[in-house]
Amino acid sequence: MLNKQLKLILVSTPIGYLGSGKGGGVELTIISLIKGLISLGHKITLIAPKGSTLPFKSELLEIRLIDGIDQPSWQHQNKTDPVLIPSKSVLPKSWEVVIDIANESDAVINFSYDWLPLWLTKVQPIKIFHLISMGAESIIMKEIISEIGQLFPYQLAFHTKSQSKDYSLKTDPIIVGNGFEMENYFFNKNENGPLGWAGRIAPEKGLEDAVKVAKDLDEKLLVWGLIEDKEYASKIEKSFTKETIDWRGFLPTNKFQEQLGQCRALINTPKWNEAYGNVIVEAMACGVPVIAYDLGGPGELIEDGFNGFLVKPNDIEGLIKATKSISEIKRKNCRDWFEKKATNKVFAERVEKWLEKGLNKKSLQSCKIN
Ligand code: UDP
Repeated sequence: MLNKQLKLILVSTPIGYLGSGKGGGVELTIISLIKGLISLGHKITLIAPKGSTLPFKSELLEIRLIDGIDQPSWQHQNKTDPVLIPSKSVLPKSWEVVIDIANESDAVINFSYDWLPLWLTKVQPIKIFHLISMGAESIIMKEIISEIGQLFPYQLAFHTKSQSKDYSLKTDPIIVGNGFEMENYFFNKNENGPLGWAGRIAPEKGLEDAVKVAKDLDEKLLVWGLIEDKEYASKIEKSFTKETIDWRGFLPTNKFQEQLGQCRALINTPKWNEAYGNVIVEAMACGVPVIAYDLGGPGELIEDGFNGFLVKPNDIEGLIKATKSISEIKRKNCRDWFEKKATNKVFAERVEKWLEKGLNKKSLQSCKIN
């Protein structure tokens, strides 16, 4: 633990306000990390879109809300698309505030997967750290992240190694994982519950594969998550009978974990290089084993045969076989894994180490920016 209090500015995702669900896993990451950093004694200023709320208050926390239009998410654009900034966008407005107050802080941590804050790292004297939340979903993003990774390697961190491999980095990537508040998740020992799936309802999350498993086993699949792509959701609904999917909606964490904890397994079926997979760890925190495609983050969270099973991507038969064997996994192993590797305390400590390293290192920038 650092023996100095850091004054940190955390900049939230510009995709949606905290609590909207539009920001996906990043929303929970920010909230858990703030709590963890405060418990380590650091002072936080959070810059977030108007409407954002946090489930706690602290004397060490100040929130600045910014009014503006949401950014479009990169995962739903083509790889070659250029950078978009809508009129009255919340993104540049947020960074105007950051630049205005940055000299009162030790560091800025950016959570937005966007070109502008990465580019600012090259032209602003302030130390901007970036927790990269996705794999390379666009060429321009891949270019700027790889460039910052070469110039300021200690100011970039990733959730998993698999995610970082999407970028061209000069040095070993800094991996900080992720973390969740232990007190928010309750261990449920019931081994005989239903099957579950959770995530944004969008093509890259592959819900249809989990529904196929439930259908094959003649069971219902409980589904939680924000319907981000309505067309995709209705296509899935039409392809299966009503008995197969039980839509539970997008729930706040306390209700989500309570229902999730009743499952005998969570099925996780990403179709992209999943940067981490919050729902996997949230399930494990409740004692629920996870069966997931070995694609990105899940491969680093699931220890095959210990806290779940890993299956080749797109292998529905493999998912079915693993689901039939799920009683082999001890639910206690899942909770133990979570407590050891992914509480917000251990996450905040990893982030603190990252900041310490970045604040002490000079950049590898060999030439001045003109
Ligand atoms: N989630 C939630 N309520 C729900 C279903 C999901 O709050 O009913 C949250 C969940 O806690 C997680 C996020 O949605 O933090 C999904 O994040 P994940 O990393 O799994 O995927 P992403 O959306 O970032 O791709």
